Amino acid sequence: MFSKLKSYREVFINECFYWWGLGLCEWLITFRSYYKFVPGDILARYYRLRGEIVLYVSGSDCNGTPITIRAKQEGVTPKEIADRYHQEFADCFARLGFTYDTYTRTDTTYHHKIVQEIFLELLDKGYIYKKEIEQTYCEYEQQFLPDRYVEGICPHCGANARGDQCDACSSVLEPFELLDRKCKICGNPPITRFTEHFYFSLSSFQNVLENYTQEAEDKNLWRENAISLTKRYLKEGLQDRAVSRDLPIGVSVPIVGYEDKKIYVWIEALSGYYTASKLWAKETNNDDSTFWNTSAQSYYVHGKDNIPFHSIIWAGILAGLGKEPLPTHIVSNEYLTLEKKKLSTSKNWAVWVPDILERYEPDSIRYFLTINAPGYHH
Ligand SMILES: [Zn+2]
Ligand SMILES: [Zn+2]
Repeated sequence: MFSKLKSYREVFINECFYWWGLGLCEWLITFRSYYKFVPGDILARYYRLRGEIVLYVSGSDCNGTPITIRAKQEGVTPKEIADRYHQEFADCFARLGFTYDTYTRTDTTYHHKIVQEIFLELLDKGYIYKKEIEQTYCEYEQQFLPDRYVEGICPHCGANARGDQCDACSSVLEPFELLDRKCKICGNPPITRFTEHFYFSLSSFQNVLENYTQEAEDKNLWRENAISLTKRYLKEGLQDRAVSRDLPIGVSVPIVGYEDKKIYVWIEALSGYYTASKLWAKETNNDDSTFWNTSAQSYYVHGKDNIPFHSIIWAGILAGLGKEPLPTHIVSNEYLTLEKKKLSTSKNWAVWVPDILERYEPDSIRYFLTINAPGYHH
């Protein structure tokens, strides 16, 4: 018998699920988001070549507001939209040669079931609690407005912002914090109404996350952008966040009397990393706990506007669940620009992956994007 010459490490590589405030589906296929996938795939190939045990996962967010908006515009069901885009992503990634161990989607019953279990566990441990709050409501549509449907002025920097986030100053917002609020659908100012919601006690994790971020900084595990932004949030003091919403699609709150409410992306989509690992284990008859223990290293690859959702919210959720490791490496990419302008699908300033695949070999595209990736040449 050969003695074991090398101790293997487990490396868990997570690619962003595209769940946060992006024009979601269309956005995903642009150059800008395509290039975000490259580092995950590079990492996966690299660690596999080194003989490490690698799990590389991602998926399509099929529960987001953009899907509902698009379905409404086209007069079809959200599922039809989700199916169409999921298929297109999966095809593109396959043609580009990405080596996912699992590429899944967030509208499977399996994902819903595990997310509900996570929600109940956090509730059981006292990290989720119920609270009556005021929420923005449009009297014309007669509905509570999803965060992204509320637009106005950022209270921190004065720029135009959406109810979930200010792109100008990276502040995480709640819709009622915006000044001069307008309903995105009809342009009228929304009113506020009382409704009950569930809150995640992020403030409970202030100390844990301070130590965690300090360690990441000391060991040089994250990029500078992730360290500085996370420290800024911690310095401002973590606040509890509403984790349920009145939305038409998504994962229902698994509590009698609250089934019409949905678990918000902060728990739902982020948990996609975890549910994807579980799904992989189930489908391949493997054990996902290999990747959920202190000896494993995890990489989270995403765009820089998603930093706090990985370094604070997902880390807080994992701490609440008592799962290790908290994200070890946070790989937050700067945006690729096209002729020096930030890419934007809404302004149609983008290069579409299906389009470039018609013209170039996948390896040439991968090479070009890799050597030009922002943040890779210092
Ligand atoms: Zn701002
Ligand atoms: Zn309205």
